[in-house]
Amino acid sequence: MLRHQVRYNRINHIFISHLHGDHYLGLMGLIFTFHLQGRTDDLYISGPSGLDEIISLQLKHSDSVLNYQIHFQRIVEDGQLLFENEDIQVTSMEMNHRIPCFGFVFAEKQRRHKIIREKLPETLSREQMLQLKDGLDVVDSNGKLWANSELATPPLVPRKYIYAADTRVLSKQCKVVENCNLLYHEATFTNEMQARAEATFHSTASEAAMFAERHHVKKLILGHFSSRYQDVSLVLEEASTNFSNTVLAIEGQVYEVPNGTENHEPLAS
Ligand SMILES: [Zn+2]
Repeated sequence: MLRHQVRYNRINHIFISHLHGDHYLGLMGLIFTFHLQGRTDDLYISGPSGLDEIISLQLKHSDSVLNYQIHFQRIVEDGQLLFENEDIQVTSMEMNHRIPCFGFVFAEKQRRHKIIREKLPETLSREQMLQLKDGLDVVDSNGKLWANSELATPPLVPRKYIYAADTRVLSKQCKVVENCNLLYHEATFTNEMQARAEATFHSTASEAAMFAERHHVKKLILGHFSSRYQDVSLVLEEASTNFSNTVLAIEGQVYEVPNGTENHEPLAS
């Protein structure tokens, strides 16, 4: 976060997938750094059962009282609502790993049609304006019919980003993944390590790519590469033969969530 200048005070919610060390051991450091930096805003953490105990224990045995409040939400099931504001909703997605593990679905909410203020006639009531926002045509007080497209613009199709955490590739069809705009999926191994992937409940690059293809995902980001791969271009190559719009997760890089209308070409990044 320091290296990439992510501002601490912009972080209000943290989602932890599971309790393997490479996925959460930095959390306590972050919690104490927030404290030392004088944070007073509440912090919301969602994670699997046990994480609350780990945090409390570390605070207890270091006799620490934070300047801010932590609200912990235990993730216990698939499809659990973890966060919601007027723009997005975050829900859990159950993974298939060695210990309880959840991915996260970040879904934009459906917005309403937007009224073009300059074109709005004075002959419309408040109720008719609401109808315009719902995408309906309206008849004004003079009996004139206005097509919705004359007075309003339709909203963009809501986008969906899915962070699939550590997992054996899910064999069942997952409705929530269908048509998602951006999918992050682990690709710990390549094909020749198939047996190891199965034994450790991880996925290969091909499996992740075929999963994306099967669910008509628009773009795939692969990550969580085994340290045995000094050159991860092999991982990308293997995935790309099964799903062309694949990129690698590079630390510090920013990835746009593509719109539904966008074609399948990779974003230059
Ligand atoms: Zn793991």
